[in-house]
Amino acid sequence: NRRLPQYLERGVDVKFTDVAGLGKIRLELEEIVKFFTHGDMYRRRGVKIPGQDAIMSYLGLGAKLISSKLFVDELPLLLTRGGILLCGPPGVGKTLLAKAVAGEAGVNFFSISASQFVEIYVGVGASRVRALYQEARDNVRFQFLLSDYGDCWTSLDQANRFTSQNAPSVVFIDELDAVGRARGLIKGSGGQERDATLNQLLVCLDGFEGRGEVITIASTNRPDILDAALVRPGRFDRKIHIPKPGLIGRVEILKVHARKKPMAPDVDYLAVATMTDGMVGAELANIIEVAAINMMRDERTEITTDDLLQAAQIEERGMLDKRERSP
Ligand code: ATP
Repeated sequence: NRRLPQYLERGVDVKFTDVAGLGKIRLELEEIVKFFTHGDMYRRRGVKIPGQDAIMSYLGLGAKLISSKLFVDELPLLLTRGGILLCGPPGVGKTLLAKAVAGEAGVNFFSISASQFVEIYVGVGASRVRALYQEARDNVRFQFLLSDYGDCWTSLDQANRFTSQNAPSVVFIDELDAVGRARGLIKGSGGQERDATLNQLLVCLDGFEGRGEVITIASTNRPDILDAALVRPGRFDRKIHIPKPGLIGRVEILKVHARKKPMAPDVDYLAVATMTDGMVGAELANIIEVAAINMMRDERTEITTDDLLQAAQIEERGMLDKRERSP
């Protein structure tokens, strides 16, 4: 019986419209979605995920080429096969974005924090990485099993228990720096175990080349400390920076989270966004939740601008407290 890992999510319902304030970043991610949805076309052309440098130098040829047929035909020039690295401070929506890629493409989503690979005993982390990719690539089809072992099954249900179809999938590795720190930055012992884990991850990244059914998206808020081996071309060579949202971004994020709440029709989102300079999506989402609690406590039926402004003050106080506590 195949045990599905807890970190697998099927039928992800997050879409790009749930991630606000993205601007041009969305275009880059749409391309990854296309890789899944038009995978055959890409594979026929020998294309893996185009690396950032290759794309940039290509775009340098001029905007005219981009829209022309030539651009599509010449895509095979942009060969690379690594993963995508989302960089940015905590709470800006890196996880949400990776999920949205899976949701838009209609594929499964495996997520794991790289700190879960960190172990004392040599080989344990590496075997966890291997297991993750084995699951993510798993594509044992029911029909295949039936034809192979047809006589053994007593019922459809029994056969189904042995069936799993996880690929295509997005593998999301949070806090990549936990295993990907540059060698000189590792304190104490454990270097051998960490090297084994890192090497296994690199092997798995390279390994998806032939199949094109698993895409790795990793996130970090410290791209500067990653081991050079990880960011070499063909590895995590496609970096996407997700900054803290600006004023308009904050308005958009507040509106996304307000969608499912009973907001008063005259809510002044701009005023709230102006008051929340420096906040990230996670904090803005929290403001909407706290404002909703305010409304409930007062037994009202609509969330007002005042509710939001009060909630923003509470969030800001929380932020300041956290900053004071952290060394
Ligand atoms: P960390 O680095 O701490 O893992 P993260 O960058 O992965 O943080 P998320 O976990 O994706 O951040 O964000 C937490 C929550 O904040 C999301 O589930 C979502 O509700 C909200 N959020 C963050 N950014 C956005 C955004 N751009 N648009 C809408 N909601 C957002």
